[in-house]
Amino acid sequence: MASRAFPRVVGDRTVRRMKAAKVHTVGVMFLYGVWLALFSGCSADHRAADPDPEPFNVVLISIDTLAADHLGLYGYARNTSPNLDRYAGNAIVFENAYSTAPKTPESHMSMFTSLYPSVHGVFTIDDPGRLRVLDDEVRTLPELLKEDGYTTVGFHGGGYVDGQFGFARGFDEYHRGDQRRAEEWLWRNGKKNKFFLFFHTYRVHDPYTPTPPYDRRFDPDYSGPIVHDMESLMKMAESTEWIDYSSTFWSQVDKSDPDEVAHVVALYDGAIAEMDENLVDLLSAIDRHAPRTIVIILSDHGEEFGEHGMFTHSQLYDPILHVPLIIRHPERQAGERITERVSLIDLAPTILEMLSISPSSQFQGRALLDPTDPVGDARTVFSEFPLGERMALVKRDQKLMLTSGHEEFYDLRRDHEELRDLRLSEIEHSPDGSATGLDALRKEMARVTRENAFVRDQLGLRESTEAPADEVLQQLKALGYLE
Ligand SMILES: [Zn+2]
Repeated sequence: MASRAFPRVVGDRTVRRMKAAKVHTVGVMFLYGVWLALFSGCSADHRAADPDPEPFNVVLISIDTLAADHLGLYGYARNTSPNLDRYAGNAIVFENAYSTAPKTPESHMSMFTSLYPSVHGVFTIDDPGRLRVLDDEVRTLPELLKEDGYTTVGFHGGGYVDGQFGFARGFDEYHRGDQRRAEEWLWRNGKKNKFFLFFHTYRVHDPYTPTPPYDRRFDPDYSGPIVHDMESLMKMAESTEWIDYSSTFWSQVDKSDPDEVAHVVALYDGAIAEMDENLVDLLSAIDRHAPRTIVIILSDHGEEFGEHGMFTHSQLYDPILHVPLIIRHPERQAGERITERVSLIDLAPTILEMLSISPSSQFQGRALLDPTDPVGDARTVFSEFPLGERMALVKRDQKLMLTSGHEEFYDLRRDHEELRDLRLSEIEHSPDGSATGLDALRKEMARVTRENAFVRDQLGLRESTEAPADEVLQQLKALGYLE
């Protein structure tokens, strides 16, 4: 289905090593693998024997809340992302990458641990602002890279990716900081040691406040009541607290008026266009100061605008779960488009595979670019939001969603917008086996949830929570996480 056969540049030795070390998410072998690793103590010694003599650096760029469907390279009609589109033309693009969760902390921790949210346990609980923190038993991507000699540094937007929840684990430096700081770090350190740089930004997160000319780019004739610039919002809110101008922004929006909603989407798209223009500086800094760098651009989740009755990101419909995933490797064939569904839990194994570092035995995801082990079209992609009792599972274009026990069932191939719930009318009489598909998905959902509980149990993970520090609390309010 998708194009394959990336030229290997690391030689047969590495391929053999990767094959030997490969960890798969499904099946009894993996579970036994976890069990054996834990009880034999070999999980501590996961590294490959001899590192690549010319190692690659890695830059991981997470644009929080960037929906794949709002980017030109994913077919969006508006020209929101000309620079990213051009960059992706020289990279590997995953057309159907799915987030593990609709929320920032759950999704990012899945990227760092290759574990589903209910396994790694870092998610919001029903106590405002409290977040479960990562258990010490879990190995994170930065820890594994650091053990392999990587300098590890993170610049993030704060809130729920703050270090206090476990995100700083394995980083030499982990700061709240903007893109400029990441660029300065590259300028000072890019040519020194091999490094892993994580950059995270909320630039396209709501409230959408693009500056001129991006604020009017996609709805230039708008004359309605929505005020969007940060300064005016603060004046209207009579406050400099983010939460106040965020709620002020949304209080202006008549969500039942299609023109007003269209303007909100235009502001979001304008914020994407502004981000796209600004990102050029970071990508250029990488090319200039550290050309031997694998660059990964992704998002933790997308955004919805009333398509299914809600705004921002809490549900598990595709506008929220479908995320960009772009990998530019200096020595791999570029311009590839991979159509199979993949998950952000595959990120850590994929990065380690590209660096010829053996994966952790704890990983639930799999390496995506190993030509000896193609992903295939039968991959199960699973997402969840533990606080909202929401789960979604996609397999072979069919999607099962559960919301507090309520089922929805979609055929994504024929119904990309998830408008026709097949469970309601057709399954009993469907000539094409839809009923069978639903039944198979129910069983698969049960299998994945059983496996998640098993893995968490075997890892012996404990539940502990942390209340955010005052500064973090303000950021969380600003981002709309706390009402
Ligand atoms: Zn997020």
